[in-house]
Amino acid sequence: MLPELPTPALRLGLDVDALTSNWRALDRMSGRARAGAAVKANAYGLGARRVVPALQAAGCRDFFVAHWSEVPELLTEAGAISLSVLHGPLTGADAAFARAVGVKPVINSLDQARRWVESGGGPCDLMVDTGMNRLGVAMAELGDPVLGRLEVDVLLSHLVSSEEDVALNGVQQERWTQARAVLRHARASLANSGGIALGSAYHGDLTRPGIALYGGVPRPEMGEMLQQVARPEAAILQVRQVAAGETIGYNATFTAPAAMRVGTIALGYADGYLRCWSGRGRFTAGGTVLPVLGRISMDLTVVDLTQAPEIGEGDWVRADYAIPAAAAATGLSQYELLTLLGARFGR
Ligand SMILES: *Cc1c(COP(=O)(O)O)cnc(C)c1O
Repeated sequence: MLPELPTPALRLGLDVDALTSNWRALDRMSGRARAGAAVKANAYGLGARRVVPALQAAGCRDFFVAHWSEVPELLTEAGAISLSVLHGPLTGADAAFARAVGVKPVINSLDQARRWVESGGGPCDLMVDTGMNRLGVAMAELGDPVLGRLEVDVLLSHLVSSEEDVALNGVQQERWTQARAVLRHARASLANSGGIALGSAYHGDLTRPGIALYGGVPRPEMGEMLQQVARPEAAILQVRQVAAGETIGYNATFTAPAAMRVGTIALGYADGYLRCWSGRGRFTAGGTVLPVLGRISMDLTVVDLTQAPEIGEGDWVRADYAIPAAAAATGLSQYELLTLLGARFGR
């Protein structure tokens, strides 16, 4: 048997208090609706096995993943929570799996509805497409008799541009309201994070925030109430002195203007710290700012330690990773910045 793995030199700090505070703020803002949580893609990279129990303890009951493969690691929690799989049952095996483990499929098409009913049925959610043209039963299909045979818990739809003030938001809200009048269901849900800020007409019985739980800010007016949750940190593997005129990293994109003390940290683009951070990213250690020097490599990044003589090999540094600011600095979306963070982070 292998000995226990040593601690990785890369870790993703999760601020549980900030996470639960964000959920409570979104739940409050959802008015008479309850806030659920989108925890697909490993809770947007943060680690679903940490995020789900923390949100559950805060009072969250409804969770959404995308793939069936995301279900098993959450099954210990599944007794006490409602877990839905957004992609729905593509095969009979998906339907059988859902029923065996007590997870709801989100039915997205008449085919999926037939597959679910014919394989034995049971509680499910139903996605209605009100404008995304991606997944969901079309408005024109709402009269199909197979939908009447579904045992629908949550009737949901998904907003195209909730982070913007556009006419399509209202159009989608109206279509969702029409669908609610036609289809039997226990609860209705429309709003993702941004949709929660669009007001009570968008709330229904359940909201489905994702990005805002994790410190993303979909709309500026939500910035005040949301806190940073993810804190990427890496250990310094090596410290060196660089003379004036020497260059650092691939393709020599940085030339030292004077003698410098630099540190090489265990984080690279393979971990999701992409090359757009080259010469632009910043780390901190005990309040000192440590700018990134030169190119980000696959597994390594070099930072300036000249102002931090007390920081050395084995010490940890923290990336500046406030999501809205990081998106503005890099051009990556807030969603990409979180879901990029790779499997080599200790979580
Ligand atoms: C991802 C997702 C959400 C959460 O969206 P955010 O914009 O991250 O709040 C909600 N509903 C569905 C159907 C989703 O796919």
